[in-house]
Amino acid sequence: MSRYWSDIVHRLTPYVPGEQPALAHPVKLNTNENPYPPSPAVLTAIRNELGDAAESLRRYPDPTARTLRETVAAHHGLAVEQVFAGNGSDEVLAMTFLALLKHDRPLLFPDITYSFYPTYAQLYEIDYRTVPLDDAFKVRIADYAVPNGGIVFPNPNAPTGHALPLADIEKLVAANPDSVVVIDEAYVDFGAQSAISLIARYPNLLVVHTVSKSRSLAGMRVGFAFGDAALIDALVRVKDSFNSYPLDRVAQVAVTAAYNDDAWFRDTCAKVIAGRERLSAALTALGFDVVPSAANFVFARHAGHDAATLAAKLREREIFVRHFRTPRADQHLRITIGTDAECDTLLAALRELLNT
Ligand SMILES: *Cc1c(COP(=O)(O)O)cnc(C)c1O
Repeated sequence: MSRYWSDIVHRLTPYVPGEQPALAHPVKLNTNENPYPPSPAVLTAIRNELGDAAESLRRYPDPTARTLRETVAAHHGLAVEQVFAGNGSDEVLAMTFLALLKHDRPLLFPDITYSFYPTYAQLYEIDYRTVPLDDAFKVRIADYAVPNGGIVFPNPNAPTGHALPLADIEKLVAANPDSVVVIDEAYVDFGAQSAISLIARYPNLLVVHTVSKSRSLAGMRVGFAFGDAALIDALVRVKDSFNSYPLDRVAQVAVTAAYNDDAWFRDTCAKVIAGRERLSAALTALGFDVVPSAANFVFARHAGHDAATLAAKLREREIFVRHFRTPRADQHLRITIGTDAECDTLLAALRELLNT
């Protein structure tokens, strides 16, 4: 605290990211990073870019990330004007809240969801209401039939992993023609249907993607928004009032290369999905209730063991999982799918802890 702080800074409750432990070999299952490396083509592209570093780095990057956006647009069957690129989807979401979700009527999102949403709402002084998930931790779209200034949630939802079918998303978008519906598809590649196919028919739909999870590039900080060109324009106007060059040269070439290696991407997703089914079955065998997941993590509780205590005991063994102290979710652990070896280390530790 300081008397130099602005009022808004005094009132903020910043988002707290999962721990990045300074250990040589932690079993890190707490921030939903991909356990497998990005395509080797990414490293080649970065090396090529840096080969000319003296020439390229002295110049600013393309402020519109045109080549990258063209590549991603073609990948999804969109026009380049329907694609916005930002420095991680967190930044894309931050700009979206300001550009499209700040209105007189309240913004709606689930009570159990990505915990950055209330932080953005606070930062921009956006009025919001949370809508409870049902008892099975599902988003019930009928509960969103109230006047609103926008709707946002992830599909699959985080930290629950539950995915809504595309038909439900379409119903919601169609029922809210006067507000923007933002579907945060950070985990869509692990088992849900993308809403991108609806963009041509619904000018009020914005879909947000990231390369941090399914493309193994959390360290690159790149995310996208897809939607009607008028929505993308709003984001560009905010970006150009904030930072003209959110993506550096290395990030632009690296992510372009990642989208050009579709085989690597599909193979990585398949490995993560197989790992999820394996871990879900093993946790169930240990007595955990596991929410069926379409993401690269599982949300699980054990009726006989306090979640915070389990997380702390795992941490002593350098195994990191995520525990949220939020109402209704505080008896669950969110566990990222690691390699089979990492999941086995977790399972061995849990077997010991559950018996003591
Ligand atoms: C991980 C995550 C993001 C943020 O992704 P970045 O692109 O790394 O900023 C956004 N939304 C949800 C739901 C996430 O889980």
